[in-house]
Amino acid sequence: MLNGIGNIAYLGAAVLFILSLRGLSHPSTARRGNLYGVAGMLIAVVATLLIAQGAGLAVVLAAAVIGAAIGAVLARRVEMTQMPQLVAVLHSFVGLAAVLIGFTNYLMPLGDIAGAELTIHLCEIYLGVFIGTITFTGSIVAFLKLQGTISGKPLVLPARHLLNLAVLAACVALGYRFLTANVIADGITALLIMIVLAAALGVHLVMAIGGADMPVVVSMLNSYSGWAAAATGFMLSNDLLITTGALVGSSGAILSYIMCRAMNRSFLSVILGGFGAASGTSTADVGGEVVATSIDEVCTILRDASEVIIVPGYGMAVAQAQTTISDITRKLEALGVRVRFGIHPVAGRLPGHMNVLLAEAKVPYDIVLEMDEINEDFHTTDVVLVIGANDIVNPGALEDPGSPIAGMPVLEVWKARTVVVSKRGMATGYAGVDNPLFYKDNTRMLFGDAKTSVDALLRQLSAA
Ligand code: NDP
Repeated sequence: MLNGIGNIAYLGAAVLFILSLRGLSHPSTARRGNLYGVAGMLIAVVATLLIAQGAGLAVVLAAAVIGAAIGAVLARRVEMTQMPQLVAVLHSFVGLAAVLIGFTNYLMPLGDIAGAELTIHLCEIYLGVFIGTITFTGSIVAFLKLQGTISGKPLVLPARHLLNLAVLAACVALGYRFLTANVIADGITALLIMIVLAAALGVHLVMAIGGADMPVVVSMLNSYSGWAAAATGFMLSNDLLITTGALVGSSGAILSYIMCRAMNRSFLSVILGGFGAASGTSTADVGGEVVATSIDEVCTILRDASEVIIVPGYGMAVAQAQTTISDITRKLEALGVRVRFGIHPVAGRLPGHMNVLLAEAKVPYDIVLEMDEINEDFHTTDVVLVIGANDIVNPGALEDPGSPIAGMPVLEVWKARTVVVSKRGMATGYAGVDNPLFYKDNTRMLFGDAKTSVDALLRQLSAA
């Protein structure tokens, strides 16, 4: 009876997860999408508790309370700019869970499973542990890269693709041994050797990707963690876990594909790592004169403009300048200036990072445009205000074939009449590449923390 109710609840939760994904596909429906997700998860947890009656209930409850407490503390402490690291750590947990559940499943008595059913069961275990291990070590390396603990540069080993292929072939061979093992000890040995190889593969796959390709790693590991969860669902015969895992796996894969297209990279070349990406060395002569500007001058330029585009980047997130920027937008609109925002798909450190911050600051969605929608408009724009962005407005990506970010589409802000760049100094962005934009004749550098600068700008605009 309870199992029946649990299964119906699982179905309801799966539908809510699908509605949640649909809602999250647009900023105007994202809040509702989030609520569907929360409701779905609540139903899923309660249904799991219902199904886990008897002795298991206390353990599941204790685990849920501990997990919820850790999650609540983390969610309160983690800054928005540290979200990618947190996401990477959470992916590693999914991977580890798949490995542990795979092992437990293998050690558990099989009951009366035999023949083809047994082979399928063993395949589920082997695949679950394989994907889980790659997800686990790959996510740890991604975390260390995003945290800056290890270099973000791609590690390009000689014959790296052959190396990956050899490891993959060895894992397939070990899989055969695992399936045909007569005693459990042989199966465990094959599983353990495969884990060591898959762990190395996970490390190598992510080490080989770096620089501006890192956003794809985050979404790719998101996808892997979904497949690891789906494999766990098969092992546990849990339909909800299979559905949820497949949803996460496919949406992560679609996001990776979208990010690759946005960055003009082929999906295969990014996941195999090191191809063309970030291995180049810039040959551009990034020199010339840097012209600093002042709050007074920027205030005058903005007041005299009729078309302004604001381009936010990672620095805006660090400085938490979005609320003041929203106030400046309203101020300028009241002065008769048309203000729009240009968002690059990899701006910040998280897919959709800038959209979330601007939505939080109540910037209307209809003036926030994607790169493709606004790139043609820069040449008719009076002023572009670049707030803490760097790589996403680097003309070297289009003009310098030797640049590590060569070929990546960027917001072509330099085509506007005047470009004002708010940043603290001349530091490079995430990809570590110098930016010729800062030396262009029509660029003015507004040095200082973005929040301090835009606060002063708002005061000046309000006073004048
Ligand atoms: P960048 O990392 O290229 O540049 C950010 C700039 O902000 C820096 O040059 C820094 O210069 C400036 N900055 C930092 N703090 C402040 C502050 N308090 N006030 C003002 N400026 C500040 O950011 P972009 O958004 O242009 O590009 C994103 C990069 O991150 C891309 O290379 C992308 O590939 C990568 N990435 C994106 C992910 C995603 O999912 N979106 C995930 C992982 C990586 P200064 O120190 O001089 O102030």
